[in-house]
Amino acid sequence: MSGALDLPWLEPTTHQLDRSIESGRFGHAPLISGPPGTGKRALADWLALRLLCLDPKDGHACGQCKSCALSDSGTHPDFFRLDILEDKTVILVEQVRTLIDRLNLTPSIGTRRVGLIPSADHMNLNAANALLKTLEEPSDEIWLILVSDKAEQLPATIRSRCQRVTLPVPTEQDATDWLKQRTDTTDVEDLTMALRLAEGSPSKALIWLEQGQIELANSIRDHLDAMLRDGTSQARVVDTWLDHPHRSWHWLARWSQAWLQKTLTGHADGLEQAATLVSGPESLQLLQDCWLRALEGGRLAEKPIRQEWMMQSWALAWQRLANRVERG
Ligand SMILES: [Zn+2]
Repeated sequence: MSGALDLPWLEPTTHQLDRSIESGRFGHAPLISGPPGTGKRALADWLALRLLCLDPKDGHACGQCKSCALSDSGTHPDFFRLDILEDKTVILVEQVRTLIDRLNLTPSIGTRRVGLIPSADHMNLNAANALLKTLEEPSDEIWLILVSDKAEQLPATIRSRCQRVTLPVPTEQDATDWLKQRTDTTDVEDLTMALRLAEGSPSKALIWLEQGQIELANSIRDHLDAMLRDGTSQARVVDTWLDHPHRSWHWLARWSQAWLQKTLTGHADGLEQAATLVSGPESLQLLQDCWLRALEGGRLAEKPIRQEWMMQSWALAWQRLANRVERG
């Protein structure tokens, strides 16, 4: 098994990281950030493997040395991963102290020890402060990889001591090719739609395709469109939404937001063929209400409340938009 990363849009990034490791210019505290679903954690794993490998090949971990074998089995004595504890929502200061203590031991296999914090923005302030000293006076042997979905939420003191590695959003072509190799979906339109709805994030699009969410998204959009165009009864469509309340609320919110965007700007991804609403304060207010109510529905979807009543009432609100459709 080679340590190459199977995400083509990150090739320039891995190439650049490899060169700076080789030349000894690589900072000891990379902070990997970028849009959701672009491969931040996959890149962090790649980087840890690459740093620990005893004999890298073609810019990647070799997959064959003693170090790679230990990484592969999850038992590398010089690699430490700091995750949020199962019953907690933040990373605790004690966890950071334990990580630092372990990193400060002498490497057992090669010449490096690597720590990885995959959700660095979940450190509380004390935890972040505990990390500062290690970031300020990095030892030659220690690398600390931070990954963050919301890097701007990390304390400035942490950010300023890290080297930013910002991942690009893949081009639509790269992302579509990547998706094609991984799903049974052959319909290019579905793939493109999944990517657009996922704001370019290939891994999010992949999950949605696997869960059949794009089918659900399309069918909900068509229901909403039909209700606007020809007054399709809300009773019929609500029954099908009730099969998956949580997911349905998600798409009801997503499409309300898209219609809001279409009414404001004339365009929204996925709504090219859909009914166009008369713009104006009344439509905008109704759409915004629908959006907020769908978000609230999603928050309550796991609770034992009357989903049927909530969805019926939401659909009635949507139907009020029907007489605001532009008729040519
Ligand atoms: Zn190796």
